Amino acid sequence: MLYSTAYLEKRLADLQEKLRSEGLRITPQRRAILRALVMEQGHPTAEELHRSLLPEYPTMSLATVYKTITMLKHLGEVLELEFSRDNRFDGHNPRPHPHLICQGCGRILDPDVPGLAEMIDTLKKSTGFSVTTHRLDFYGLCPDCKSNSEKPSQ
Ligand code: ZN
Ligand code: MN
Repeated sequence: MLYSTAYLEKRLADLQEKLRSEGLRITPQRRAILRALVMEQGHPTAEELHRSLLPEYPTMSLATVYKTITMLKHLGEVLELEFSRDNRFDGHNPRPHPHLICQGCGRILDPDVPGLAEMIDTLKKSTGFSVTTHRLDFYGLCPDCKSNSEKPSQ
């Protein structure tokens, strides 16, 4: 599933409005990082964002990218997915949600998982826990990688 350009432009405008309302300055570099994060359909690493910005902003440091993403995270506008290396960021949906991760090409999707709310409800009732967040990752091969791996090697 891809986000429409109209949706992404709206998301970008909303994020800039949020920064403004928090009294945070929108420097050209910050604006470029917001744009790169939002226009990226997937779940980029900070390094990937930095690399994509370097041609246009040769003086931008990786630290600036990290700082801006961290700022958005503290505003509750970015979800950070922690991995043993290279954390990834979701600039579209900051609320906890399940991910589908391809072990072949590394792509990460946001699948609909029917029944998730009920599952969390059941868990709360059966354990007495208050559940504030969750991490639900499904690993496997995407259709492209699956069909590649099924082709006989020559
Ligand atoms: Zn794949
Ligand atoms: Mn996601």
